[in-house]
Amino acid sequence: MADVREGGSVLITCDWKGEELAKHLPVQFKKQAAQKKIHLYAIDSTAIAQELGLGSRTNTILQAAFFKITKVIPIEKAEQYMKEAIKKTYGNKGDKIVNMNYAAVEKGIELVQEIPVPEEWAKLTDVPSAVDGKLPKWIRNIQIPVNKMEGDKIPVSEFADAADGTMPAGTSKYEKRGIAVNVPVWDSSKCVQCNQCSYVCPHAAIRPFLVTADETAKAPQGFKVAKAKGSGMEAYQFSIQNAVLDCTGCGSCAKVCPAKALTMEPLDNHLADEVGFEYAIALPAKKNPLGVNTVKGSQFEQPLLEFPGACPGCGETPYAKLLTQLFGDRMYIATATGCSQVWATSFPSFPYTTNKKGQGPAVGGSLFENNAEFGMGIYLAAQRQRMSLLEDTQALIAKTADSKVKAAAEAWVNAYDDAEASKLTGATYKEILAACKASGEEGELVAKILGEADQLTKKSIWFFGGDGWAYDIGYGGLDHVIASGADVNIMVFDTEVYSNTGGQASKATPTGAVAEFAAAGKRTKKKDLGMMAMSYGDVYVAQVAMGANQSQFLKAVLEAESYHGPSIIIAYAPCINHGLRCGMSDVQGEIKRAVEVGYWQLYRYNPLLIEKGKNPFQLDSKEPAGDFQAFLKGEVRYSSLERSFPEEAVKLFAKTEKEAKARYAKYQALAK
Ligand code: SF4
Ligand code: SF4
Ligand code: MG
Repeated sequence: MADVREGGSVLITCDWKGEELAKHLPVQFKKQAAQKKIHLYAIDSTAIAQELGLGSRTNTILQAAFFKITKVIPIEKAEQYMKEAIKKTYGNKGDKIVNMNYAAVEKGIELVQEIPVPEEWAKLTDVPSAVDGKLPKWIRNIQIPVNKMEGDKIPVSEFADAADGTMPAGTSKYEKRGIAVNVPVWDSSKCVQCNQCSYVCPHAAIRPFLVTADETAKAPQGFKVAKAKGSGMEAYQFSIQNAVLDCTGCGSCAKVCPAKALTMEPLDNHLADEVGFEYAIALPAKKNPLGVNTVKGSQFEQPLLEFPGACPGCGETPYAKLLTQLFGDRMYIATATGCSQVWATSFPSFPYTTNKKGQGPAVGGSLFENNAEFGMGIYLAAQRQRMSLLEDTQALIAKTADSKVKAAAEAWVNAYDDAEASKLTGATYKEILAACKASGEEGELVAKILGEADQLTKKSIWFFGGDGWAYDIGYGGLDHVIASGADVNIMVFDTEVYSNTGGQASKATPTGAVAEFAAAGKRTKKKDLGMMAMSYGDVYVAQVAMGANQSQFLKAVLEAESYHGPSIIIAYAPCINHGLRCGMSDVQGEIKRAVEVGYWQLYRYNPLLIEKGKNPFQLDSKEPAGDFQAFLKGEVRYSSLERSFPEEAVKLFAKTEKEAKARYAKYQALAK
């Protein structure tokens, strides 16, 4: 509001009308609106878009409303120009889409309404924010002003803590954007406690909790529980809680729920549900009775990636989130410029967070073209630091006469390369060193080791990036890393297109798909990155697709991480650039269909099996069945080719199907 001029106009999109809208406007806003004699307008663009079949696309409606209220050009002209632009942009997507957008223009003009601004609002008394003082300094002095578009008023001195380019972790939880129209509501009586809703949630908003009877008794009103099912769970009750103000309303959780235990209902009726979530996350962490080797068990671990800035229904973040649930407390991540960096590091918010002990992923971002090299640098630095700790420990073992210190140090040396064992023995070793009374040279050694203690636990090193990075621009570096034998893990979010820069074709784009730089459909087949990696023989390689097989993804991740060499996981991740007919709420369903028809294949190549005399290649997806062509036509990136180049479409779709089948046959032969 500070930037609106006297007599200016403000357009709000919301479903409140008249007095109800006035009730929801902040006092500060109303006061300034009256003082500056602002013209206030409102429109329910979300409802209009849904009614017209545009899903969540409200931009055309709002643009039309903008022209109506600003009168920068005569509204008849604006309508004509907008419709001409629509015809030009969407003409090849069919009359239905063109007409929907025409209707969006008409409704935007027709339904925008002026809201009276009473003069008495100018005399309202400001209500100072009661919570501000309790928030962390970064949130108060940087995040809130930046989100209010007042970042240019922050003095440089406020950034002293960030002068080295770092930002605090776990700040996305303070944003509370409240952008969902509908949020999931849990029916405890129908729930089978599978935790799939949590597994697929791109924003870590919905989570299962195990609570004791005492905790349930003290819970806020409306906190729903059911008796926890499964062995080892007898002492607990089970509860699904949703952070409704961090939920995007994508509906993925409700779509995937096998028991129809989640229904999407208006956020307005469920604002109080946030209290239940806040209560549940503040409870003491419980030892996971199921462990992390099952989909259900993995979800009782705290996600150390929460409320990222990803699109509703994002296909990438559920993969990344699971990794943080398994390894987040000892994880280093190098992330390539692209979506995986943008949803994670959109200043000033940061969604990677820490557990109750303050441990969480350390994340660094690099340019598109050198993320593998950047990650390799992180790996080499961590390896050098750990080697130095090992050398100091060996020197201490040789020097000390303290049997307790010696035993703890030896136990840690033996566990050096085992992540979980090094964590456990490292904790004991650190405790014993902190309590020992060594002096002189031995005392100096002990102090040095304690100073390096954050390297006692073996680190889990990951490189994140999309296909634009891994298949294309960063491939040279990636190839160098997988050929090096380094104990690192590479996660490729394969959206088959440069997602973040507007959908340009990459070498992962299959034949026939329409993308930027491939307007007439891509002519060449998708590169087989997995096969190229497998040719080394000592690289762990997996192709996964969460919606098709949740356990296969979990297995691949556990195998890749524990493999003492390079690992690469290629994950199928649909995105808004694909133009899914089913909408982004059914991303998991679309992934499943992709695997069923043989568009995408699942496999794991584990070099450890060679040593056991077994075939290292395991094909995890079934023989393709179903209509491959119908699958293609369910995505605008393919179906649009039918309209613009119908004859080419027939040829290219047949070619892409043939290529996918040949790929499956090749994998089948490898699995024999
Ligand atoms: Fe998560 Fe989407 Fe469900 Fe919200 S609607 S809880 S963001 S899956
Ligand atoms: Fe319960 Fe459905 Fe979630 Fe499974 S997916 S835990 S049945 S709400
Ligand atoms: Mg991509």
